[in-house]
Amino acid sequence: MKVKTPYAIQDELSKMLDFLASFGATENNGVSRLLYSSPWIRAQQALKEVMHSFGFQTHFDDVGNLFGRMEGTVEREQVILTGSHIDSVIEGGKYDGAYGIVASLLAAKELFQKNGKPKKTIEVVSLCEEEGSRFPLSFWGSGSITGKHHFDEIHSLTDDDGIPFKKAMAAAGFGLNNYPNPRRKDIACFLEVHVEQGIILENSRQTLGVVSHIVGQKRFTITLTGQSNHAGTTPMNARKDALATACDLIHHLTNKAKQQSDLVATVGNIQVKPNVVNVVAGEATFTLDVRHHQKETLTTFCSEVFDYFHKTTDEQNIKLNITQWMDDEPVKMDETLMSKMTKMIKKEKIPFRQMVSGAGHDSQVFGTFCPTALLFVPSHQGISHSPKEYTKPEDLATGVNILTSFLYELAYT
Ligand SMILES: [Zn+2]
Repeated sequence: MKVKTPYAIQDELSKMLDFLASFGATENNGVSRLLYSSPWIRAQQALKEVMHSFGFQTHFDDVGNLFGRMEGTVEREQVILTGSHIDSVIEGGKYDGAYGIVASLLAAKELFQKNGKPKKTIEVVSLCEEEGSRFPLSFWGSGSITGKHHFDEIHSLTDDDGIPFKKAMAAAGFGLNNYPNPRRKDIACFLEVHVEQGIILENSRQTLGVVSHIVGQKRFTITLTGQSNHAGTTPMNARKDALATACDLIHHLTNKAKQQSDLVATVGNIQVKPNVVNVVAGEATFTLDVRHHQKETLTTFCSEVFDYFHKTTDEQNIKLNITQWMDDEPVKMDETLMSKMTKMIKKEKIPFRQMVSGAGHDSQVFGTFCPTALLFVPSHQGISHSPKEYTKPEDLATGVNILTSFLYELAYT
């Protein structure tokens, strides 16, 4: 199929992104569209109407995922699913998630108008939630489809205003058995386009990133217990200074991370007790977030770092406690889909690279469930989760055009 000139769809793309951004628009030109909130409900309803006007059969599932279906003429049962998430962070931008939905809609519409019904069924999805910005749970949309998440997980969850998850869901009209159960067994593959949310593509002047892996993440809380004591009368060699030792550990892990290609390790939070100017710190607690796309690298890094932690705290008579509270494995994208997509991009002579995603995406949930492909377009200055999020219209259009060709190859040939 001939790929359209980017300019032909730029206008329509921009208009639809602005239209979606109007639901939850903030004073700072940002978007706050939290799960089951009023802007969220209005955005999903508006998208449903747009899908309908484009000729899709539309339906919600019982968690609020919205689908626009174009039934295949030959293989109706297995579905090629494409889309992204409709929720945003608080004061987010207008591209994160929304771009993937709009791109999928425009790509499928274009194919439908030019070529009629596909041979294989295509569904465009506006996933209800990915960010975890309202309730302490993320990937509620993709997780409900794939079986990662279940209704029984949400009973005790509330948002910052104390509103229970179930109540918010019911107020939006979901979780009441009015719609089909979200769990699906008919998904043949999942395709997502997304803004990079990083600076790799822009720095290398490339337009597209074919994602090979989404990083795995491990998170820990580490507590060191020493002894609070007088800052003036306790000699340096008689101290059990939890903060000084914590600094040593953080310094060690950061240096070690720098020596490891592609690995990132972050200590983003530290709490000290008693946190007083003239008292030796008796306790220091810090968080650790480690990410890499190879499971083994991640495991080895953590175990070597923790060996050092144990050795050092033992030597200094400080008690160490390490609690792990996240262990998300790296997810590999589908090689066949990746190579098909790469071939297509090369044919169009679009500057691209293969890359790892350091951020989480719905594609990581689908990636363990069905063949999945994830395509990035550049983020200006790598900024995301901010009203300043921006991608050039021509880059957005290139993403849509590749998705259009890709969907054509998968569903029409
Ligand atoms: Zn996103």
